[in-house]
Amino acid sequence: MSSQENTSENSPHILVLGMGGTIAGLASRPEDKPLEYVAGQVEVGSLLAHIQSAVPEGIQLVSRQLANINSCNLTEALLTQLGEAVREALANALVTGVVLTHGTDTIEETGVFLQLTCGKYAENLGKRVILTGAMLPANAPKADGPSNLLDAIRWASTPIDDCPGGIYAVMDGRGCMAMDLSKRHGSALNAPIQASPSSSVGLINPSWLSGVKAVQALWTEDWPIPKEGEWPWVEILTSHAGARPETITHWLNSKVKGLVLAGTGMGSLHDAWRESLVAAVKHGIALVRTSRTGAGEAQANLPEKDIPGCLASGSLSAPRARIALQLALNAEKQAQTAGKSLTWQDFFARIAVLPVIR
Ligand code: ASP
Repeated sequence: MSSQENTSENSPHILVLGMGGTIAGLASRPEDKPLEYVAGQVEVGSLLAHIQSAVPEGIQLVSRQLANINSCNLTEALLTQLGEAVREALANALVTGVVLTHGTDTIEETGVFLQLTCGKYAENLGKRVILTGAMLPANAPKADGPSNLLDAIRWASTPIDDCPGGIYAVMDGRGCMAMDLSKRHGSALNAPIQASPSSSVGLINPSWLSGVKAVQALWTEDWPIPKEGEWPWVEILTSHAGARPETITHWLNSKVKGLVLAGTGMGSLHDAWRESLVAAVKHGIALVRTSRTGAGEAQANLPEKDIPGCLASGSLSAPRARIALQLALNAEKQAQTAGKSLTWQDFFARIAVLPVIR
């Protein structure tokens, strides 16, 4: 992990962590082909230098480069490093808020990861962690990164009404809980936020804010961050026309600890999978059922009875349910080591019932 820090770190500051992405990307022909670019090329310190004159007076910024990747290559080891860096930053009395620049491809996974491992901590400390990214590379004529980064810095640093500490995201002038951020369009500038319950960052909407508070009231305890190399192996499998049992049986003799099943509609699974799913449960593989539609909820025993042992994901999309299941399996292992008889289902149920912000 490389780090780059400026001289403000001994006074109150916003810590800006860089993970890469399109916000740090460069196109070779930005004028006419801005979408032909390489993500993760520009250091986060340079992104800040570019917007320095627009940063409100009195805000001190410190930057730290955690990685500079295309987030389609995000690893679990990097999530561990990021979670630890965020916790360390939150614990530092001189850090008043945290901004994270991240690729939008997997910002959905990172958003839910940080909520489940650091969300309560940030809320209790009254500090905001704001994730942001961009859909156009840094050197594109209409680059959206600078305004997103400025919005994130302003939101992390200013007391906007009574918006509590927590893990949020901002894109295209709108803010949401980071666990609600979902990229549901390949290229639109508002792609990561258009399907997410959000509010204008300049004028927080009271009904959105009350939704945030309802989620935070039920999220009472953060889960442990898995150590590098100790993330349980969980795969996502999609149900579709012509599904085959082999898609499931393939995993029975592997080291897979969990399967997230992205079903059709409300999370329906092809009958061709039924027997092999029962066998998977017998093999000790954790099963979570979600919807491949990208929106809506998968609820227990709807429309049909669940296979015993398979949990519905609530409003979690497949990528989010995968991270949540990994963290729940890890939490189960740690609880059992500590002599508590909590299961992954006990942990997972806590997130699957969080209210949906409308
Ligand atoms: N592939 C890029 C990434 O996720 C896309 C982006 O940042 O918008 O790093």
